[in-house]
Amino acid sequence: MGNPLSYLHDQLEQWRSEGTYQRLRILESESAAESRFDGKQVINLASNNYLGLTTHPKLKEAALEAVRRYGVGSGAVRTISGTMRLHMQLEERIAAFKNVEACVVFQSGFAANAGTVAALLTPEDHIVSDELNHASIIDGCRLSRAKIHVFAHKDVAAAEKALADLEREPGRKLLISDGVFSMDGDIGPLPGLVAAAEKHNAIMMVDDAHSSGVLGRNGRGTIDHFGLDGRVQVQVGTLSKAIGVLGGYVCGSRDLIEFLYHRARPFLFSTSHPPAVAAACIAAFDVLEQEPERIQALWDNTKYFKQGLTSAGFNTGISETPITPVIVGEAKLAHELSRALFEEGVLATGIGFPTVAKGKARVRTIVSATHTKPELDRALEAFGKVGKRLGILG
Ligand SMILES: *Cc1c(COP(=O)(O)O)cnc(C)c1O
Repeated sequence: MGNPLSYLHDQLEQWRSEGTYQRLRILESESAAESRFDGKQVINLASNNYLGLTTHPKLKEAALEAVRRYGVGSGAVRTISGTMRLHMQLEERIAAFKNVEACVVFQSGFAANAGTVAALLTPEDHIVSDELNHASIIDGCRLSRAKIHVFAHKDVAAAEKALADLEREPGRKLLISDGVFSMDGDIGPLPGLVAAAEKHNAIMMVDDAHSSGVLGRNGRGTIDHFGLDGRVQVQVGTLSKAIGVLGGYVCGSRDLIEFLYHRARPFLFSTSHPPAVAAACIAAFDVLEQEPERIQALWDNTKYFKQGLTSAGFNTGISETPITPVIVGEAKLAHELSRALFEEGVLATGIGFPTVAKGKARVRTIVSATHTKPELDRALEAFGKVGKRLGILG
């Protein structure tokens, strides 16, 4: 009898021969500045735990207390019987923090993006989207079956032209961009995009996954960073990165949130967060307001590490945030660099096509607020040593 899945084996073999097959590394400790992966203690430059909140005592205590009081699960989707008081408190907490009327929390940032775009637009509508927007936005666009118009990365004039060309078309228009782009660490040109959306009466949506807890006052994100309060109708964020836990959210008007309560499919058809997740997230927003020094430490470390990489001669592209890629070209070399770094005690992931363009493969680094200078020095030393050995540095 034939195996109808044999094509998967052939594909995996091809990836192995191309050197792009990736085995999952197993984390055997907390996710922290230094962690143990596959039995080896390494400096962790591969997590999105920007502020060290995954192990913050206040978050851990809030989660434990929620388990003791409310158990481990919510028992249902939000619209049936799975809306706990903690879920409502978290949404109110985020809305107040973001200075908007209301907020809805999803199970993940992915679900927030995909569920929201798919709920807001119909096949009669149009989406104007940056070519490097996150996969969850792309999937949401496809699910909506709206017409998709992709513009060159951060090209405000191209986005504006796409909207102008649609001026006479019926249907709604959505302009959408990441706040910070996850592969290059560059910031979206939001002031220009917002002006273009306003001029053409388009809905403006920003995905702030990598900027919540990183940019803006106390980590309020790119909209606060650029002073665009009230001008971005749909603001998405994640609770899985700097917030240190799990989840995604959409902020905006009360009407937007109530509409999503009725129509966003991940909200309607997938069980809500366990109480421990909601409680830990609430505690995280308290920490953002009470411990701004964490964000300062994150940026100090970012400048120090970026400077170290560039002065060693690495190409760090156009990064403006703690996400700092080391661009090497071919995917195979990026994976080689990543493996060699690991042997030297540094975890940084190799990323190639199709996640980034061909010829732009890289090892991506993300420092956190909790890395010490000696740890960053050791990481830079490892990069220098391996970079020379692999011929990346002259
Ligand atoms: C990580 C990420 C998401 C998804 O967030 P999760 O909470 O991990 O599902 C969405 N958008 C962008 C830009 C991201 O980087």
